Amino acid sequence: MKSIGLKKLVSFLDSELSLSEFPKDESVNGLQVEGRERVGKVGIAVDACEDTFERAKERGVDFLFVHHGLIWGGLTSVRGVTRKRIKALLDSGISLYACHLPLDWHPRYGNNAELLRVLSLRKMGEFGEYHGKRIGYWGRTDALTPMSVFVRLVDKTLKVRSWYVDFRRRVHNVGVVSGGGWSAIHDAEELGIDTFLTGEPSHSAYHLAKEMKVNLIFAGHYATETLGVKAVGEMLKKKLGLAVEFIDHPTGL
Ligand SMILES: [Zn+2]
Repeated sequence: MKSIGLKKLVSFLDSELSLSEFPKDESVNGLQVEGRERVGKVGIAVDACEDTFERAKERGVDFLFVHHGLIWGGLTSVRGVTRKRIKALLDSGISLYACHLPLDWHPRYGNNAELLRVLSLRKMGEFGEYHGKRIGYWGRTDALTPMSVFVRLVDKTLKVRSWYVDFRRRVHNVGVVSGGGWSAIHDAEELGIDTFLTGEPSHSAYHLAKEMKVNLIFAGHYATETLGVKAVGEMLKKKLGLAVEFIDHPTGL
């Protein structure tokens, strides 16, 4: 099995994932918890949590790559759940690396670029401003598609049952923002988006979508954010020859 020094792997990821593009992310992107000096096996997961850490330990992971890390807006104390989580990592020697907004946005490995790819949408442009930068994309279907057909495609591809509202019949220009990206609906009208796909359902989006006549699809926060970490996992296998395992822990939300 191939292995790599922790420092080398961290600087490779920092640059490959363009972390410097998002200096204002509330997530601390990059290495959050330092573990063993050498990395043989990489675990990838959506969430940093007790369950994921236990599974990573069982599977002999040295380095865990996640979308939602442990440190948001800095660390103010190490107690309660935070203490337990950090202790679990330090005791097992597993490093934790988080990549939040850069992984939503990334043109090659990002959740939103991947959503376009798996749904066969032709990328047309950026979409969905968040903290001053567009982190999503909008793309086009090959032909005008009935909403019911498009929702079936989303559900089959992501293995979910989406919650959706059909305010227009046909799907053609689709705006995509993974996770809790509902507020991107504000950009839909200006860009001529007819269908907006995001993760978590939002009550606030309903009337805006209705008045803009934009179809809404909520395919789940978790399900829309497994794609980016998986793409990074594939890249680590291919470029560095490391062993990579996806630690799946769907929340159903
Ligand atoms: Zn998220």
